[in-house]
Amino acid sequence: MPIFEYQCSHCSHTFEKLVFKGEEGGIECPECQKQDVKKLMSAVSFMGSSIGTCAADAPKGFG
Ligand SMILES: [Zn+2]
Repeated sequence: MPIFEYQCSHCSHTFEKLVFKGEEGGIECPECQKQDVKKLMSAVSFMGSSIGTCAADAPKGFG
């Protein structure tokens, strides 16, 4: 499930919210109810999807 982390620009409160498609525009802060929030880049997104796929990180050489 797509869980995003947001931070309120009004009271600096950070919170996580489950957001479906089409709902991203109406996120409001649970503390002050302001829709003045910004999405943070978080590692909370997809838990337990695919762990251990770091093969693509291997260097292929330069040139
Ligand atoms: Zn707030």
